[in-house]
Amino acid sequence: MNSFEKLQVQFSANLTSPYYHLVSDELPNHVKYLYTFRTIDQFINDLDFYLKNYNIVDLHQVIDYVKVGKPLPINPLFLSFDDGFREVYDIVVPILYSKGVPATFFVTKQFIDNKELFYRNKASLLLSHIDTNPLLLKKISDFLGDLSVPTSNILSHILSIDYNSRTLLDNIAMHIGLDYQKYLDTQSPYLTSSQIKAIIEKGFTIGSHSVDHPKYNLLTLSEQVEQTRLGMEYVQHQFNLTYKVFAFPFNDNRISTRFYKIMKNENILDISFGSSGMVSDLAMNNLQRCSFDNMQKTASEILCQYYVEKQNRLIIGKDLIKRPFC
Ligand SMILES: [Zn+2]
Repeated sequence: MNSFEKLQVQFSANLTSPYYHLVSDELPNHVKYLYTFRTIDQFINDLDFYLKNYNIVDLHQVIDYVKVGKPLPINPLFLSFDDGFREVYDIVVPILYSKGVPATFFVTKQFIDNKELFYRNKASLLLSHIDTNPLLLKKISDFLGDLSVPTSNILSHILSIDYNSRTLLDNIAMHIGLDYQKYLDTQSPYLTSSQIKAIIEKGFTIGSHSVDHPKYNLLTLSEQVEQTRLGMEYVQHQFNLTYKVFAFPFNDNRISTRFYKIMKNENILDISFGSSGMVSDLAMNNLQRCSFDNMQKTASEILCQYYVEKQNRLIIGKDLIKRPFC
């Protein structure tokens, strides 16, 4: 037995849930300053490794497992993708389809059909724009200086702008003549409705990823509920879905148990997904996933790392996510 097999055998009943954003051999300007992602070869190697070592399950099996306790096969693995980038349609779906691998794609209401650019993608786009014309740095520095924003490190400041102050990204772009709408129109960074329909017709499943991708722990409880409800209703009606699944934008850190109770009691969601790794979660109908972004290792090495982290948390009795009640 190699080290992966030794670790896997201890957790053979656990659902392993790798998730991705992009797969590409290119670096789109709206992502390249945010995180690294799998190349096509790396992704194909990941899939071959899953097919050899796991039983890949689809969303309906996961819903039945969580909601009615229907057992999953040994070493179950569930695959998903967040943010609904166009590369899902261009690259990911054809590869998955050719290998017969099921997956779920979580899409954000305001990004579908390239209506709006995600504020984090705006930050990356600003940085790549500055990269092509360093003189813009002085212009932005003067502009931010006028707004009493620290100017010592403009680039990291742009990357640190959060959801609540995201209009600053629009103001900076306007000041330096960067047109987000033109980028949306010419580059189509996100999936269109017709591409999503074609993905569903191929047998894949779709979930919601909120209305406009806020950090949930910056929202009030009622804002969290509305973001989830409206995002879910939109994709459900738009694509005639018979199931209701949701992946938290960013993560579900410090989300209260009350939120999950509302999701269940008001029948807003069947199940939801966080991104905290291979950790146990007692929140109602909520499962955690393992990120495969920012990883330059093989799937075996990455999963070993997640298994070891879980083992270590179990040893010190900290493998359970703690949540505020409300
Ligand atoms: Zn996301």
